[in-house]
Amino acid sequence: QCVAVCPTGALSENSNIADVLRAIADPSKTVVVQTAPAVRVGLGQDFGFSGRSVTGKMVTALRRLGFDYVFDTDFAADLTIMEEGTELLGRLNAAIGGDKGVKLPLMTSCCPGWVSFMEKHFPELADNLSTAKSPQQMFGAIAKNYFAQKLGIDRKDLVVVSVMPCVAKKAEAARPEFSRDGDPDVNISITTRELAHMIRFANMDFALLEEDDFDRPLGESTGAGVIFGATGGVIEAAVRTAYEVQTKKPLDRIDFTELRGMEGVRSATVDFDGTPVRIGIAHGLANARQLIREVVNGTSPYHAIEIMACPGGCIGGGGQPYHRGDIRLLQERTESLYAEDAHKPLRKSHENPYIQSLYRDFLGEPCGHLSHELLHTRYYNRKPVVKPCSTNTKK
Ligand code: SF4
Repeated sequence: QCVAVCPTGALSENSNIADVLRAIADPSKTVVVQTAPAVRVGLGQDFGFSGRSVTGKMVTALRRLGFDYVFDTDFAADLTIMEEGTELLGRLNAAIGGDKGVKLPLMTSCCPGWVSFMEKHFPELADNLSTAKSPQQMFGAIAKNYFAQKLGIDRKDLVVVSVMPCVAKKAEAARPEFSRDGDPDVNISITTRELAHMIRFANMDFALLEEDDFDRPLGESTGAGVIFGATGGVIEAAVRTAYEVQTKKPLDRIDFTELRGMEGVRSATVDFDGTPVRIGIAHGLANARQLIREVVNGTSPYHAIEIMACPGGCIGGGGQPYHRGDIRLLQERTESLYAEDAHKPLRKSHENPYIQSLYRDFLGEPCGHLSHELLHTRYYNRKPVVKPCSTNTKK
């Protein structure tokens, strides 16, 4: 059994390759795969493309492995921005309107390492977290409740596999609130390393693979979805959409470089046409404690905070090929994501035409009734109850 250690120190990895192969071999199942943003800049490391984006070759490899549809978690990252951005604006506007009870700062919720840490150590912050599910889980909910319907099959006959840079995503997929009638929205979650093993087992010459594109409709994404894989990327993607929705004006720049970087704790203020929006960012849970302490004490100056558990964000995730603390490699992965973003024809989540048609044909509006049912979640107090030690009463 393949076992690896998560850098968050909380989890170990069990291989689910056999589960994936069984699903692909079952003729009664339609098997779809989604790949997280950071996977495309980690996967190539074992094949001579260290730190570089291998999106097109990865898609070809996944098709050759036998997946029926090759989709992109970046699509769900765009969807996350629609929901989380709407939630942020709702809270901001309520605060501007004088609502003293509104919970600010809004804290991001797409990192299960951070969510689990919050539930165990700071459950009092649960109401600060966005209720938006992570992109992995949003994808699963849309695949099972929308795409299965489009195919005319029962959701139980659709197997959703995710390829993640992350060991904590396996535990996230297994949470009971992300299942319906015993059928998980995401059936199997594997890591980037497991996908690299599968490609090698299948005897593919990765370097010689031609490049291909994701399937539609759940494979189309904007540059905003791509940068989710790097620290600061989630909040930058949110700002691109929230600014235009709030001000009803087009951004005069798309790159918010003040939100980027590798410092463990960063902050920036973005001007929303006269309204200063203060943003805090931390990667690595030790760094996050600094921002968390201020929120707990009621002294946080921020309106929104992004927290990612791993160094550099998901590009440095526990399921990626080992970076062994090599900051240069993490920077290369980050730069590759921003380069992919820069080359995308669309770079704001709300401009994704497939996201627009998903709302028009199925969901209704962001944070509407169906979105709340399918795309939002709640958090639990998992703080261990400390019992007093029993006194030795030996006589
Ligand atoms: Fe997973 Fe780490 Fe990314 Fe969090 S930062 S989602 S723990 S890979």
